[in-house]
Amino acid sequence: MAISSIPSHRSDISETEINAVVAALQAGHLTGDGPVTKRVQTQLRELTGAKHVLLTTSGTHAIELALMAAGIGPGDEVILPSFTFSSTANAVVLQGARPVFAEVEMPTLTLDPNDVERRITPRTKAILPVHYAGVAARMEALLDIATRHHLSVIEDAAQGVGATYNGQPLGTLGLAGCYSFHGTKNFTCGEGGALITNDETLARRAEIMREKGTNRQAFFRGEVDKYTWVDRGSSFVLSDVLAALLGAQLSRIAELTAQRRAIHDHYQASLLPLAQAGQLTLPVIPETCQSNYHLYFVLARTLDERNRLLHELKQQGIGATFHYVPLHSSPYGRQGLGCEDELPVTEDVSARLLRLPLYPALQASDVERVIAAVQTSLSQ
Ligand SMILES: *Cc1c(COP(=O)(O)O)cnc(C)c1O
Repeated sequence: MAISSIPSHRSDISETEINAVVAALQAGHLTGDGPVTKRVQTQLRELTGAKHVLLTTSGTHAIELALMAAGIGPGDEVILPSFTFSSTANAVVLQGARPVFAEVEMPTLTLDPNDVERRITPRTKAILPVHYAGVAARMEALLDIATRHHLSVIEDAAQGVGATYNGQPLGTLGLAGCYSFHGTKNFTCGEGGALITNDETLARRAEIMREKGTNRQAFFRGEVDKYTWVDRGSSFVLSDVLAALLGAQLSRIAELTAQRRAIHDHYQASLLPLAQAGQLTLPVIPETCQSNYHLYFVLARTLDERNRLLHELKQQGIGATFHYVPLHSSPYGRQGLGCEDELPVTEDVSARLLRLPLYPALQASDVERVIAAVQTSLSQ
């Protein structure tokens, strides 16, 4: 029998999701902000405790909308990790502001508060931490810096849905939080996102900017007698059909997270001997953080060893992957933005990082196969 391949991730779509999408199609409201969107926004408000939730077309758009509504613009600087997805930095660039890349710290690979503080200038307006792998950045320290320097904190919680920091849902600690429901995330509608906030002013402005700069939502609430163009904006509204898919996924948070946790714990326990032998560095979830087990990553000792592991696992049909190419050293970072910084921690961890497959339907026997492949590769 041929050995089947193990992908790096796979969405878990059950009858619940299929029925929800069919029901939304039958209800006939295909555009956004219909009854399903309202229901799912309520679901997310209940999950997070946030006062305002706006579904968006992607996590990328949620970050853009948050920065736009926070008034980030030309002349402003926003500090963010270099170790992140291009979307985090693009959101800053698209507002005409300047992304300032800072280091991440071990063990979470999230923004290093000490390095953030060093990079603050009179132009700094906001800090944009990324919660990596479903584990929070050191928010207490970052919020303290922000308060002392009068900066906004906007959380890229694209990977953080369902995770908490000191018991508080990620995305609700700063001025605004941004979620992603992309196909690779824990809960998905294929492409989608959400902006969440407790700030009344930001919510009002975001509501307008999300709807092509119009006061259409205020019109629906009966607050104005006609709707018109009142601000800058774009089209960030998610279709009700996709919202239905998302609502069904979110109704399964407990089940899907428990499955992810079991796989995460299986990796941790089985790879411990390799860590104790100094061959791998395993992730550590700080006491302050409840993870949603979005990713499972390990650090090899060297770039060569990481690449050998990647190659070996690939040979065996296992979807192991590296992760971010640091943005400060990417072609657009260097040539487009003129970044000259060296970020040694970021460069080091990104060279040694390896992600192992993690998704709800991954069987324990598959996890064993991945672990055996890692062991074999490291013993050669
Ligand atoms: C997935 C992701 C995004 C972008 O989300 P999309 O929904 O794919 O646009 C942004 N930042 C981080 C850290 C992500 O993981």
